[in-house]
Amino acid sequence: MKKFLLLVIVIFAAGCTSIEKKDYVLFAGEIVNPSSDYVVLLKGTKVIDSARLDGTNRFTFKFNSVEDGLYHFNHAPEFQYVYLEQGDSLMVRLNTLYFDESLVFSGSNENLNNFLLELFLTQEEEEQTVRKEYYNLESTEFTDKINKLRRDKLKTLNVINEESKLSEKAFRIAKASIDYTYYTYLEIYPFEHKRKLSEHGLHDMDANFYGYRQNISYNDTELSYLRPYYDFMKSHLGNLSYMTCKHSCKDSAASTKKQLHFNIHKLHVIDSLVVEKELRDNLFRNVAFDYLLKEHDSPSNNKMFLDDFVTVSGNNMHIKEIEELYEGIRNIQPNNPIPSIPVLSVNDESVTLTEIARSKKTVFYFWTGTNKSHYQNIFKRVIQLSKSKPELDFVGINFQTDKANWKRIIESSGLDMDKQFKSENFEEATQKLVIYPMNKCIITDDALIVDAFSNIYAKF
Ligand SMILES: [Zn+2]
Repeated sequence: MKKFLLLVIVIFAAGCTSIEKKDYVLFAGEIVNPSSDYVVLLKGTKVIDSARLDGTNRFTFKFNSVEDGLYHFNHAPEFQYVYLEQGDSLMVRLNTLYFDESLVFSGSNENLNNFLLELFLTQEEEEQTVRKEYYNLESTEFTDKINKLRRDKLKTLNVINEESKLSEKAFRIAKASIDYTYYTYLEIYPFEHKRKLSEHGLHDMDANFYGYRQNISYNDTELSYLRPYYDFMKSHLGNLSYMTCKHSCKDSAASTKKQLHFNIHKLHVIDSLVVEKELRDNLFRNVAFDYLLKEHDSPSNNKMFLDDFVTVSGNNMHIKEIEELYEGIRNIQPNNPIPSIPVLSVNDESVTLTEIARSKKTVFYFWTGTNKSHYQNIFKRVIQLSKSKPELDFVGINFQTDKANWKRIIESSGLDMDKQFKSENFEEATQKLVIYPMNKCIITDDALIVDAFSNIYAKF
C-alpha cells in the first residue's frame, strides 16, 4: 500500500510536463538481461507486430495508427499490459530478473500505464491479506474492508484523471481493473469463509451482498482480455453454477458424475449469460481445460462432456485445441501403447518412447531448463527413487531447452545419462502426452500405459 502511494507521488513529481501527441504511435524500450531476442505486441490473441532487440537491447514499434486500447507485450516467457492510443509515444524499461517489479513507463499515457502496473503489483500483496485475515470475517465486515480497498484505488485514479485528463476509454479500463479486482473477492467469499472456518454449509447472503452484480457487463469487447475482468468472470460463473445446482438439483451432486455434472452446469451458465464471442469462447475453453486436465474423469464421462461442449460451443475458436486435448487423454488410458514420439539421446540419436520403454517397467518424468528449482527438486527425487526402486527405469524427458544447455544441466545432475532424452517438438509432446501438471509422470510396463496421470512425488 505504501509502495503504491509512493509511486503515484513520484509520477506526479516527474510527470507534470505535458507530452505532445504525435501523428504516429511509438512504443519503444530497453530490456536489461533479455531472455529472448524479440518483443511481440498483441491485441487479445492477435499478434500485431514483433520487434527484434538491437545491439544495445532496445526495441521499437512504430505505427501510423493503432486502435486505442489495451495491448499485451511479450518478452518470452513474460507478459505485461500496455495501453496505447493514437498519437502516443511511450517508452518502457525493464529488467527480466525482476520483470514486473522493474517495469517503468515514460512518455504519453505513462501515468495510466504505471497505474495499471501498480494495481497489478499491489494486488499480489493485498491478496495475501485478504486470504489470511479477511475471509474469516462475517459478511458485512468483509464487504466493508473490500469496499475500502476499492474506494482508495478509485480515489487515486480520480487524481490521475484530473492531472492527466485520461480519455474516456482509458478511464473506463482503469476503473474496470479496480472494480473487477474487488468484485472477485466478493464472489469467492462465501466459499472461502466456509472453508476457513470449517463450517458445514454456506451462509445465505442477503441481496445487498451481491448488489455490485447489477454493474457488471457480460458484453464488453474492450475488457475481454483484461486480467481482473477475466478472473472475475471465472469466479462469478463458478459461484453461479454452484448456487444453481444447490437450488435446483437436489442430490445429483453426490453421484459418481459429480464433477461432470458441475462442469456441465458451468457450460450452461456461460451459454445463458455471456454474449461477447471471444470472452464466451475463452471461458468455455477454460471450463474444458479445467475439467479434462484436472479431473481425470472416466473416458465415458469425458465423452459426455465433449458432446455437451460441442452443443453449446461447437463454433469455439479453440475447438481444435480442445478436441486434441480430449483425443490426447483418450489415447493414454491404461493398456494403450505409449505414443511413439521421437526424442533425442545424449549421443544425438533419435529414438522413440516406445523403444525406450520396451520390455521393462518405466517411469517417464518431465522438465524444462527454464525452471531451475523445479528440475533440481525432481532430480533429487529421481536419484532417491532410483535407489529405492531399482526395478523401475526412471527416464527424464526435457523440453524447451537448447541442446548445449540441456547437456550441461544433466552432466552435473548426478543422473544416469543413458536415461536422459530431449523432445525437440514441444507441441507434439505436450499434446500427445498431456503434460500437466509439470510434476506428472507416466508409468508404463513393456511400453503399455499403466498410469499416464501419476505424479513423481506420489508413492511408488
Ligand atoms: Zn446440479
